[in-house]
Amino acid sequence: MSSSISKFLLALLFLAGCSAPKNIAKSDTQTIDNLKAHIQYLADDKLEGRRTGTPGEELAMQYISKQFKEIGLTPMGTEYYPQIFVVNDGKQIDDATELLINGNRLETGKDFFPFPFSPTQKIEALPSIALQEVGVPWFFDLKEVLEENKNNPHFDLVDYIRTNYKGIKDRGAVAMIFYNTSSIDDKLVFDPKDKSEQLAIPAVYVSKEMAKKYFSDKSATLNFKLRTSIGEKTRLGHNVVGYIDNRAATTVILGAHYDHLGYGEDGNSMIRTGEKSIHNGADDNASGTAALIELARVLKKSKAKNNNYLFIAFAGEELGLFGSKYFTENPTIDLKTVNYMINMDMVGRLNDSTKVLTVGGFGTSPAWDKVVNNLDFFKLPYKGDMTAPLVIKIDSSGTGPSDHTSFYRKDIPVLFYFTGLHTDYHKPSDDADKINYKGESVIISHILNVIESLDQQPKLSFLKTKETQTSTNQRFSVSMGIMPDYTYAGTGVRADGVTDGKPAQKAGIKAGDIILQLGDNNVASLENYMQALGKFKKGEKTKVKLKRGNETLEVTVEF
Ligand SMILES: [Zn+2]
Repeated sequence: MSSSISKFLLALLFLAGCSAPKNIAKSDTQTIDNLKAHIQYLADDKLEGRRTGTPGEELAMQYISKQFKEIGLTPMGTEYYPQIFVVNDGKQIDDATELLINGNRLETGKDFFPFPFSPTQKIEALPSIALQEVGVPWFFDLKEVLEENKNNPHFDLVDYIRTNYKGIKDRGAVAMIFYNTSSIDDKLVFDPKDKSEQLAIPAVYVSKEMAKKYFSDKSATLNFKLRTSIGEKTRLGHNVVGYIDNRAATTVILGAHYDHLGYGEDGNSMIRTGEKSIHNGADDNASGTAALIELARVLKKSKAKNNNYLFIAFAGEELGLFGSKYFTENPTIDLKTVNYMINMDMVGRLNDSTKVLTVGGFGTSPAWDKVVNNLDFFKLPYKGDMTAPLVIKIDSSGTGPSDHTSFYRKDIPVLFYFTGLHTDYHKPSDDADKINYKGESVIISHILNVIESLDQQPKLSFLKTKETQTSTNQRFSVSMGIMPDYTYAGTGVRADGVTDGKPAQKAGIKAGDIILQLGDNNVASLENYMQALGKFKKGEKTKVKLKRGNETLEVTVEF
């Protein structure tokens, strides 16, 4: 038996009490078996990629709730373990919408559609296309404006319609009917993400085919029955929340998102072919969810009782941190009692040769230095199935593309565990048979060691860190340096964070501000903002109109 073994055994006996040696080996095998069971279930085709708001998400939610119950966690959601939140998916054309011309019903969405900024209204009239009389719908052929702008890549037809036809109502129109007799493809479709201000009267687009059929004779009188109804498209997400009450003054939060991409419907798949396949999300993030469950199992028996523990499996992360944001805005415990938060997102692909584990959030508390990177491997109570230490790569920022960011924004120290990107990221090929289960059990051990070595410490102090730009979009030659709030459903783009030293911060834009205009470009949605940003070059200056509380401000930004 090698000396290191005896020293190892000695250290264990000393640190974790008599039973440890036998249990550890057994417990690690047990942990690995459990991880396999969790990840294989969560990444099974049956759960169809666990997209938020789908039956697959529901199955995963039930599975996690059942595990929490078996472990003996106290339910800490709003509906027992689950905490339900609404995801706003933008606008939708309600079934009540209809258009009949001369008694013929046109097919909604195919033959015609109301623009998303149309109010709910019912109109019956006998208009003729050539006449723009008071009290009837007015008809507009887009032919001319399309031909005038056919060589202008920045021409935005919807923006043109929205801004140029605003005052039509005042001249007597009760609706605006747009059609296109030119050979140019107008590419007009119903855009559920359009969050622009509602107009006073309906704006409707009629397809080329239907326009040819009904609008060719401009002098004809049409029997026109129109009803427009635009609603909010929503779905429900479910955080799953369980608690260990050690009657302590502070609580440690452990979190991992369990939602994934489904068939890639939300446009966040790396597969750009449009092929609809199940994205199983074994590493992203069935691995973190499995680790969360196993950490609950061990901490339930742990002697580290100077903190309570709250376990949150988030939904809505892939949509833009919806679940964690919702929890931090609607916490089921007092956030002031939170000591720190540990987030695990993609911890299933530890590279066995490099053993590199990225730990983010390192700069969010001075306490992390001692416990993350300097733990004496041979003195650790938990070793997992490993004979050599992990290679910890630290990232100091408290923000990043996962749920710890929502807690960092509430001035809570965070750690973010991540084994790194790989070629299966956000693809259907992210499967359970590629998971490094042993590696994951070691990562769980690292987290347990961190928690146990902080147990006797006072509540951690929080440090602000540099904000990292989460998405580097090559398409733009400039960036403002704001972190958009993906959950914001209102008009404009709300800044969740502002990066130091970037144009927005230098111009005095703050977190919480709502960008409404960039130069001459209206900013109603994130898409508008991206389009507008694409028009600017380094060194250029422009005016930014924004809302701060009830105030509307204008600042000058230099890119
Ligand atoms: Zn993820």
